Amino acid sequence: MKQGPEFKRIEDNMRSGQLAAHQFLGTDTRSLKDIIRHDQLVLEPLGITNQDIANRMRYFTEKAAGGLGLQVVDDVFEVEREEHKGDIPCPFADNVQASKSITRVKNLRTGRSVSWSDLNIHLVDEHGFFEGHGAPFRVDPAEFVEVLEIKASK
Ligand SMILES: [Zn+2]
Repeated sequence: MKQGPEFKRIEDNMRSGQLAAHQFLGTDTRSLKDIIRHDQLVLEPLGITNQDIANRMRYFTEKAAGGLGLQVVDDVFEVEREEHKGDIPCPFADNVQASKSITRVKNLRTGRSVSWSDLNIHLVDEHGFFEGHGAPFRVDPAEFVEVLEIKASK
């Protein structure tokens, strides 16, 4: 993962630069490095990696994208896709762009829902970045593990 001056530049760009409008850091005042590290510490004791979460998000996104309107997946999850035009650039300056489309999943056992944009999958997968507290597209790792019923892969 990128550290040092470049990492600081990425953080500044999210906080007050060209990408500020996307509110990746929300109202979080911690450094980007601390935000990423803290979420890592939430997942470690569960034996779940950021890739496990990204893979599960990708699974539901593909299901949702393949169907029309609401559908039930694996008898437990109600999934829906909201298509949005346009792309958002990855704030880590790696030339990745992802669509603004949103996937929503409701766990029918618990009634709880989570949603995410396509960019979230890339951010979680490649950068271990779940966004800051108060961010509109914050992926709360503990909540996602529960609602999407993510199991430890080992
Ligand atoms: Zn990226």
